Amino acid sequence: MISEKLAAIKDKLPENVTLIAVSKTYPASDLQLAYLAGQRHFGENKVQEITEKQAVLAKDIQWHFIGHLQSNKVKYIAPFISLIHSVDSFKLLQEINKQAIKNDRILDCLLQFHIASEETKFGLSLDEAKELLDSEAFLLLQNIRITGIMGMASFTEDQEKVRAEFKQLHQIFQFLKSTYFSDKSSFKEISMGMSGDFEIAVEEGSTLVRVGSSIFGSR
Ligand SMILES: *Cc1c(COP(=O)(O)O)cnc(C)c1O
Repeated sequence: MISEKLAAIKDKLPENVTLIAVSKTYPASDLQLAYLAGQRHFGENKVQEITEKQAVLAKDIQWHFIGHLQSNKVKYIAPFISLIHSVDSFKLLQEINKQAIKNDRILDCLLQFHIASEETKFGLSLDEAKELLDSEAFLLLQNIRITGIMGMASFTEDQEKVRAEFKQLHQIFQFLKSTYFSDKSSFKEISMGMSGDFEIAVEEGSTLVRVGSSIFGSR
């Protein structure tokens, strides 16, 4: 049962870690069951799907966008999104800022980093992030707020490799915090950990875990 699975995962999380129920591919009725069990943070990776679900579900849900986001689709989620985890280019950030202005909002974003060894995963390198954060153009974006970083570990059974990648993400967080965000208390999130590895992620400093199949069943 969804409520029992949610409770079992929450039992394993310290108070300061937020559980994001990753509901991609599951029907709105499953999200509603999680909602009735008290879950308020949901994560989706497709613009059309998150928009459709947002329209029919409770308005106090906090929606997290966790997938690759195309600039031309930001406008559909800008009115309601709570946090965009997957910012991996200046161009995207600029478009998020533009849509935030249109909606009279400040939009919270995480910078996504590439920490896995697989080629296919999206994300910035540390050098790319530094270039972005050092640029004059970045300072002009007044309607976005960078509240932390996100990453995905390699898809592997090797737990020590996963742990090393999470440690690396934590180090990136600490470097950015001290270099660019030392006076910003809002820069505080590390989004890491999924069904298979969230316990390791929590040990390595995660503040947001993104758990799907362990709650809703296999896709
Ligand atoms: C699907 C997905 C998750 C959740 O994965 P599970 O293995 O089902 O827990 C987490 N993060 C991202 C970015 C995803 O796409």
